[in-house]
Amino acid sequence: MSQCPSAPHAHIDLHTHSNRSDGTLTPADLVQLAAAAGLRVLALTDHDTVAGLDEARREADRLRITLVPGVEISASWRSQAIHVLGLWIDPACGRLRGRLDTQEERRRVRMRKICARLSQLKLPGDDLLAAVEAQPGVPTRAHLAEALRAGGHVSRTDDAFRKYLGKGKEAHFAAEWPGLADVVGWIRDSGGLASLAHPARYALSAGARRQLLADFAAAGGRAIEVVSGGNGAHHVEASAALAVKFGFAGSVGSDFHGPQQIWNPLGRSLKLPDGIVPVWREFGL
Ligand code: AMP
Ligand code: MN
Ligand code: MN
Ligand code: MN
Repeated sequence: MSQCPSAPHAHIDLHTHSNRSDGTLTPADLVQLAAAAGLRVLALTDHDTVAGLDEARREADRLRITLVPGVEISASWRSQAIHVLGLWIDPACGRLRGRLDTQEERRRVRMRKICARLSQLKLPGDDLLAAVEAQPGVPTRAHLAEALRAGGHVSRTDDAFRKYLGKGKEAHFAAEWPGLADVVGWIRDSGGLASLAHPARYALSAGARRQLLADFAAAGGRAIEVVSGGNGAHHVEASAALAVKFGFAGSVGSDFHGPQQIWNPLGRSLKLPDGIVPVWREFGL
């Protein structure tokens, strides 16, 4: 492994959410917080939408921090939901926007199914659906979990996943996400670089995880998120070893969703291990 120069990794965060998906801050407020936290480079990577990028760009230009235009696209691989980060995408690309519109529609269809099932379970599914649809962001299960908590149906959002929304639970519906290779193709087609989000978080055996990475590389994936918010040091080491094995560059990201998640702040130390090529190197950052 070659030694990398000591780039100031702690000032780079390439995975964050605004209220255009399931984050709580507006894109402008997110950028302001990033600047205040001392970040030099920030990627906004909302779930299946680029709707926040114009606002984030304006604020980043004003505050003179570097905004990497991004998106976190939902894909499927062997019936598992996988998240692929598109970094340095062109948010104005019409083909990408059309594909993301389709993703949003899949989300709306799934949300209606979930809420109909909640009604069968004697919960106020119509009200919950209305609460989710009143949000400014593309609908996610995180919005629904929050609506269930706000309505007093669960005491914590985690319980909403544990009781109803998680895999194998009564109100779980798998969205029909496009295949991994298609999603990587969309990102590349819009000029972006595909990075696999939080590779340690998928419920896969070690062998299946290696096959996922092999398939991702074959599809044109270029990086994996070696350091991801909420993942322990053990996962950093394991992900770094996988990056080396498959020749991926390394990315870092908090997966910030809002200041209420006090255990996962923006601007925390996200240091890439020595020997991993930073994904931002070829972009001169
Ligand atoms: P969706 O993309 O609609 O499936 O919604 C999943 C989102 O819910 C994720 O992006 C997380 O931000 C959030 N989330 C929060 N807690 C959980 C949990 N226990 N399991 C899965 N997702 C969770
Ligand atoms: Mn999320
Ligand atoms: Mn994710
Ligand atoms: Mn995310």
